[in-house]
Amino acid sequence: MTYDAIVIGSGLGGLSAGAHLAANGRRVLVCEQYDVAGGCSQTFRRKREWQFDVGLHYVGGVHTGDIGSVLRGLGLDGRLQWNEMDPDGFDTLRFPRHEIRVPKGWDRYTDRIAAAFPAEEQQVRRCLGTLEAIGGQLRRAGVPKSKLDYLRYPLRAPSVVAWGMRPLADLFDHHHLSQEARAVIGAQSGDYATPPSRTPVALHAGLIDHYLDEGAYYLHGGGQMLAAHLLDVIHTHGGRVRTRAHVEEIVVREGRVRGVRLKGGEQLEAGVVVSTADIKQTFLALLDPSAVSPRFRERVAGFRMATPLFCVYLGLDRDLRGAMPNTNYWCHPTYDAEDAYARAAAGELALDPTVYLTSATVKDPGCTRHAPAGCSTLELMTWATPSPEAWGVDPGSLPSGYSRGERYRERKALVAERMIDVAEEVLGDVRGHIRWQEAATPLTQTRYTLSTDGSSYGIELATDQTGPRRPSPRTPIGGLYLAGASARRGHGIVGALMGGRDAAAEVLGRDLAHEVARGAVFADIDRLTAGGPDFDPLAACRRLQDKSARAPRRRAAVAA
Ligand SMILES: Cc1cc2nc3c(=O)[nH]c(=O)nc-3n(C[C@H](O)[C@H](O)[C@H](O)COP(=O)(O)OP(=O)(O)OC[C@H]3O[C@@H](n4cnc5c(N)ncnc54)[C@H](O)[C@@H]3O)c2cc1C
Repeated sequence: MTYDAIVIGSGLGGLSAGAHLAANGRRVLVCEQYDVAGGCSQTFRRKREWQFDVGLHYVGGVHTGDIGSVLRGLGLDGRLQWNEMDPDGFDTLRFPRHEIRVPKGWDRYTDRIAAAFPAEEQQVRRCLGTLEAIGGQLRRAGVPKSKLDYLRYPLRAPSVVAWGMRPLADLFDHHHLSQEARAVIGAQSGDYATPPSRTPVALHAGLIDHYLDEGAYYLHGGGQMLAAHLLDVIHTHGGRVRTRAHVEEIVVREGRVRGVRLKGGEQLEAGVVVSTADIKQTFLALLDPSAVSPRFRERVAGFRMATPLFCVYLGLDRDLRGAMPNTNYWCHPTYDAEDAYARAAAGELALDPTVYLTSATVKDPGCTRHAPAGCSTLELMTWATPSPEAWGVDPGSLPSGYSRGERYRERKALVAERMIDVAEEVLGDVRGHIRWQEAATPLTQTRYTLSTDGSSYGIELATDQTGPRRPSPRTPIGGLYLAGASARRGHGIVGALMGGRDAAAEVLGRDLAHEVARGAVFADIDRLTAGGPDFDPLAACRRLQDKSARAPRRRAAVAA
């Protein structure tokens, strides 16, 4: 079978690339090695009672921002329901001596942070003023594409040029902020998992701006809903998403991509391959070493992966809707914003962890799939070391076969218990209400998505790996393009969706973002089928290994 384009990976990066290509008339195949499409946007279910999100807990920019733009272009903007989190405090920052609710809007946010630090109010206001200016300029100026764009950029985005690529710690130094004020301003760093000494100012400004500008949202039904709708765009436009299709090799001849080889030997031909496997997998595992220069391979090998996450998933026979506002808690045990990252990098388990705490039942009260009536889900996350040894695992037993080891289970339980302690400080009795508990380490992340070092954020978004220093969608190999968290747009729901569109734009030789800004809708909206009251996004994304074309069958069913 010959395709116009094969996409490796069905995370949001791959599905976005696939949907843009299919909706623009390309014959597309998305190959996913796992049984369910969606990558980190997946939800998973337990005992027919509990549903948990892997990697969509809150996002911004869903209407007028970047996510809204991608969805509009694919005709999906009216098909997804976004629940806004508490505009008076979508994040709650907890520190030993501070608790601050982060409201929508830069002015209110700045007032609250400044009020928390009366002795350094002016410095705090000036620092946040710079971040606000950068956030706004990033939003308005967009990504420069042409030479002319680059020439004009200093006029359109002067604060970005002055500060964007410098470390956040430099901005804090410049404004002589105390350690406490720095920690509070950088409190949501877990959203990108980089310490202030390496975080580009533009990254932090862009991240908080995308929440403050339009508010923070959770997707009704969970992250799988987004994957299912993108998949529907692909199938509706004659493309295919195949699960259990593990790409083992990107086939290159005479400097050009010719297709892929799947585990089991099946060969699939295409003149274009978009890889959303992380960059180390793509260049060091899927390609023959002779496909790129030794210097290029060296550069790829030298990229640092982002610090991965450890997650605890709890099903509680307690209704949290009365116990907590519609907020995420960021619970920091200290004001030292560097320490946890340094310890994870040194291979230490986090026994005094910063804990991010969120509840899908609180964010999405109208969805009955998260938990039984009167019950709740609670998801706890922290940064973690990727070191197998630290998790009590012999690296030789990877990528599977490690999870039943006693030492591994003990260590997982140890960190999980510390995190549940923190949850109890916020919510009162949690342990007495647990009806389901499980945890996922960075090793789990690798097992399910094949990511290097268990990272779901791709290569670290640090000053030396961001912007022009990050891999662009084009590669040295003809016909091979990159999208996904390791590519230029970075990680997160926004980064993955935008990066997928960027890669499709490169393949098509068009400026898709500009076309959407001018009102273009690529998908044929009237033919899209996903949605409706009984629509189950997980069922729509699962077990797509059957090679028969699904799309015509589904359309026939709808027509009937
Ligand atoms: C615990 C957690 C919480 C998060 N919370 C948020 C949040 O609240 N908000 C937010 O914006 N972001 C969040 N993120 C980040 C966000 O989910 C990810 O950065 C983003 O979804 C990554 O998309 P991707 O397409 O780059 O990669 P992935 O989702 O990892 O998809 C890559 C896919 O490629 C497949 N694959 C890899 N190699 C091959 C191969 N050789 N052959 C076939 N298939 C292959 C994998 O199986 C996987 O499905 C979170 C992530 C995690 C893990």
